[in-house]
Amino acid sequence: MSSEPISRVVIAGSGQAGVELAATLRQRGFEGSVIVLGDEPDLPYQRPPLSKEFLKSVEDAPLPLKGPAFYEGKDIDLRLGVTAKRIDRAAKELELSSGERLAYDHLVLATGARNRMPPVRGLAQEDVMELRTLAHARLLTGRLDELKHVTVLGGGFIGLEVASLLRARDVTVELVEAADRLMGRVLSHEMSDYFRGFHEGLGTRLRFKTFAEEMQRHGDGFKVRLSDGDVLETDAVMVAAGVLPNSEMASEAGLQVNNGVVVDERLLTEDPSISAIGDCAAHPNPYGIGMVRLESVQNAVDQAKCVAARLTGDDQPYDSLPWFWSNQASARLQIAGLSMGADEAVVRGDPAEGKFSVFLYRQGRLVTVESVNSAADHMVSRKLLSARLSVPKEVAADTSVDLKGLLPKPAVGSAA
Ligand SMILES: Cc1cc2nc3c(=O)[nH]c(=O)nc-3n(C[C@H](O)[C@H](O)[C@H](O)COP(=O)(O)OP(=O)(O)OC[C@H]3O[C@@H](n4cnc5c(N)ncnc54)[C@H](O)[C@@H]3O)c2cc1C
Repeated sequence: MSSEPISRVVIAGSGQAGVELAATLRQRGFEGSVIVLGDEPDLPYQRPPLSKEFLKSVEDAPLPLKGPAFYEGKDIDLRLGVTAKRIDRAAKELELSSGERLAYDHLVLATGARNRMPPVRGLAQEDVMELRTLAHARLLTGRLDELKHVTVLGGGFIGLEVASLLRARDVTVELVEAADRLMGRVLSHEMSDYFRGFHEGLGTRLRFKTFAEEMQRHGDGFKVRLSDGDVLETDAVMVAAGVLPNSEMASEAGLQVNNGVVVDERLLTEDPSISAIGDCAAHPNPYGIGMVRLESVQNAVDQAKCVAARLTGDDQPYDSLPWFWSNQASARLQIAGLSMGADEAVVRGDPAEGKFSVFLYRQGRLVTVESVNSAADHMVSRKLLSARLSVPKEVAADTSVDLKGLLPKPAVGSAA
């Protein structure tokens, strides 16, 4: 890290990571200037409700990350509708869309990600629905009442969350997934199979090993030709085919980019004056294998805290346990840990009851616990995995054993 004193931190990106960083810097007593740049016009907001509560009730969705008074009260210079365009590393300046050049002592890239558009002939981004921003969510909710048939491209978290909400409104949903199972990038086969049955039970039409080849306007809607030869007539096409990190500005500045801005275990790029956090950053995660780029609130928040600590004198490697959640109709899925390289699965509880967990092991060691409607399993697993404790497989499978008993006992006299 640069030994120069840091009196101005500039944060590119006003999402979960950028705002958390600004807030934590202040919480930790940082007295220099903190500038947050965001290219969206809205007060920084949470994204998870966009595919959950917001689609049920726009008014009730818990959106803003902080109230408007927070930024002024904490002397955080939040500039919305402003895009960071170019990094001048030699001058330590950031060029903005307004033409202004903004000097920084430390720059943090928290630019997040954008939706990936699959290569479908005739697909024009303005024709499809997607869900990344509040603007996208407003467009979708504005059309909900008129939709009778929606084609969802992608069987990941967001595609399935939206599909389940559409089914609750009795909309016909055709979900097209290129892989052979749902949420295949992150879930075990056991859990993926459960969700297949669950979504079929909701009435969602699932197609696997299939992709959209071509789409064209047809009346007020679209015709979508699939790789299996079928042609769907649909009111709307929702693209939920994963994201791409917003890392172009970093690569144009000569920083290493490989599925995200490459950072080390302290979340620093190779430039000691530039860090990267959240969805845009590829980092060596101690719970994974090699470099990973995570897309979760936990990761955005904890990476922000880690960088805030470093910038205020507490320089520690990033080592928070990854965890995730997704709400799909009555199923609350929670995941603790990273499952890459897992080679054995043990089921705890009964999938038929819609309440169970899958314990995943890598070379005999517990690495991930996936839970459905089993918050207690999830919470205890987070503690066990964070403490680097494994669970014997026969214990994991035995629901009569309380897993809390495996947690280390608090030291005598401790306040916990
Ligand atoms: C619909 C939806 C549902 C989700 N549900 C869950 C969930 O249930 N659980 C969970 O853990 N995670 C969920 N996520 C993921 C989670 O919201 C993200 O991982 C998290 O928001 C990442 O935060 P971030 O700050 O890194 O990026 P972002 O939230 O993407 O914020 C980055 C911001 O920077 C802006 N920006 C980009 N480039 C520039 C630039 N050059 N100049 C200025 N501004 C720029 C972007 O427009 C954006 O506003 C969901 C995401 C979506 C979209």
